[in-house]
Amino acid sequence: MNEEILYLNGRFQALSEGRIHVEDRGFQLGDGVYEVIKVMNGTIIWLEDHLVRLKRSLEAIRLGGALADHPLETVLPQLVRRAGLVDGSIYVQVTRGLAPREFIFPQPPHPTVLAYTRPKQFPDADEIFRGVALHPVRDQRWGRCDIKSTNLLAPVLAKEEAWEAGAQEALFISPRGLVREGGSSNVLAVIDGVIRTHPLNNRILGGITRKHVLRLARGLGFAVDERAFTLRDITGGSAACSELFTASTTKDILPVVRIGDSVVGFGRPGPVTMAIVEAMREEQAVLAGMQPEALPDW
Ligand code: PMP
Repeated sequence: MNEEILYLNGRFQALSEGRIHVEDRGFQLGDGVYEVIKVMNGTIIWLEDHLVRLKRSLEAIRLGGALADHPLETVLPQLVRRAGLVDGSIYVQVTRGLAPREFIFPQPPHPTVLAYTRPKQFPDADEIFRGVALHPVRDQRWGRCDIKSTNLLAPVLAKEEAWEAGAQEALFISPRGLVREGGSSNVLAVIDGVIRTHPLNNRILGGITRKHVLRLARGLGFAVDERAFTLRDITGGSAACSELFTASTTKDILPVVRIGDSVVGFGRPGPVTMAIVEAMREEQAVLAGMQPEALPDW
């Protein structure tokens, strides 16, 4: 068993030895941003996309210089090697760091930069073919959901409520009934044969998986429209909506077979979803230096 390794402010150490001060602004104010990145067969998947988004989140919270002394494009591969990680994820967090508790920015800030790895199993054929249930909740988050901020109380409460209702994921619904995204995933639907998903704006996180799903879907010849749809469009036996799925780094693509009490499509994963699942699985295998033929048959 490899020891879990933490990169903290320029030093590698055992994860269990890592210490953050009580007055770190990430802890007291949620004044920070994060990333979760997939590792497959020891290879970091779509690293560049995650680093671009992290930089964007940092600039949005006016902490653009935080990574000046932390070249994550080399630190993260080093971390994966040191940890001996094969399949799992990297968690990266950057906060405005240690300062006496005040709302106004410390000048200059001393950001906290950390990253560590975790082994993890990604959904297997059983989980994918079973599909998941979503639980709709009113979206009570703030107006900058495009920033991957560590303020996660709204999704924590939403996902707990979903879990207690027997669903695997929450579905954030706007006051006007628009489907925004999942608690920690983007959501895509097949409506009248077109793949629809909420457009990129301040109301959703621009998911890296979402981006690649849309690219692969177009490549497979499916029509794609980044245009929001309503909860009514996908529930109540709507014949127009034949498939629904979530997309996220930690769960890849998961077919949705139920929303609350309402069955989606035929209540099992549909052909469009499965074509994209297969295309993404093969592409990630190639990125990870594996032969797609070596993947287990489903
Ligand atoms: N939306 C939200 C609210 C999320 O928390 C996540 C996962 N962090 C996603 C979408 C999916 O993003 P990604 O594909 O980059 O993991």
